[in-house]
Amino acid sequence: MRQTLIDDLVRFSLELLGLTLTMGAVMVIAAFYTFDGFALPATRSTLLFCLLALFGCALPLQVYAALRISRLRRQNERLHHVATRDGLTQVLNRTTFKRAAEAEIGAGMRRRTRDVVHYTLLILDADHFKKINDRLGHHVGDEALTAIAATLRRSVRQHDLVGRLGGEEFAILLKDAGLEEARIVAERLRMAIERLEVGPADRRTRLSISAGGIAFRGPVAFQALYKMADANLYQAKRSGRNRVELTRLGGLGRGPLIEAAPADRRPHEARDPRRIAGR
Ligand code: GH3
Ligand code: MG
Ligand code: MG
Repeated sequence: MRQTLIDDLVRFSLELLGLTLTMGAVMVIAAFYTFDGFALPATRSTLLFCLLALFGCALPLQVYAALRISRLRRQNERLHHVATRDGLTQVLNRTTFKRAAEAEIGAGMRRRTRDVVHYTLLILDADHFKKINDRLGHHVGDEALTAIAATLRRSVRQHDLVGRLGGEEFAILLKDAGLEEARIVAERLRMAIERLEVGPADRRTRLSISAGGIAFRGPVAFQALYKMADANLYQAKRSGRNRVELTRLGGLGRGPLIEAAPADRRPHEARDPRRIAGR
């Protein structure tokens, strides 16, 4: 941020200096033709005065303009942040996530590399979240959502996309991750969320998420991917929650679902008796 500001100031100062020098050169040429050369001392004095005045005025104007533009740039960045992020959790909002995912998938397909880019779209939904709100209050629910989002963001790579689709539902686009890699990542996420606790000391409550995902490597419409990942999420919920269900899209994105990942079939209550669900 600080470096960007310095870069801005240097660039704008150089541009404005270039403009001032050009204006100075124009002034010299104009003086030459107006006074028929620089033979007269009065001509030289007048020109010198004009050039000094030009540079004298230009310097503070340059500094002012550079500072103004830098401030506008910072405001613009803040506005961009507000427009693209979810206000509560600070991950990408739904619209931005969808756009970024579509752009990434499109770019991945266009890249002229020999290796095909594998992606996995994960949809993650907090389990029994309504109960958390009902028992501990919405402010604790908000705290839980913030903690979940931060954990998701922290647990994936920088170039993976993390967004909040709405409510207690998040999405992640894993780049360079086929079914096997995605399963490892999704399990890691699930276990990381499982370690989170919210609420007052006497009512600490563990969180959990269910995740559905679709691994693919072709130009597939986001909406179609979302539908398939969501169907897997539904399956994860139906199978007991706090679990991951992934499938791989067949062929180059036009075929049917072909592989269901084996997963831990234990219901999540069996894994952690302290869990809020089922109590
Ligand atoms: P399931 O395990 O089947 O997903 O159950 P659930 O209770 O998580 O799902 P349900 O759709 O019944 O309830 C979701 C709840 O999430 C209801 C809603 O009040 C809560 N919620 C949605 N957005 C927010 C939010 O921004 N803050 C808080 N505190 N709660 C939210
Ligand atoms: Mg839920
Ligand atoms: Mg939900």
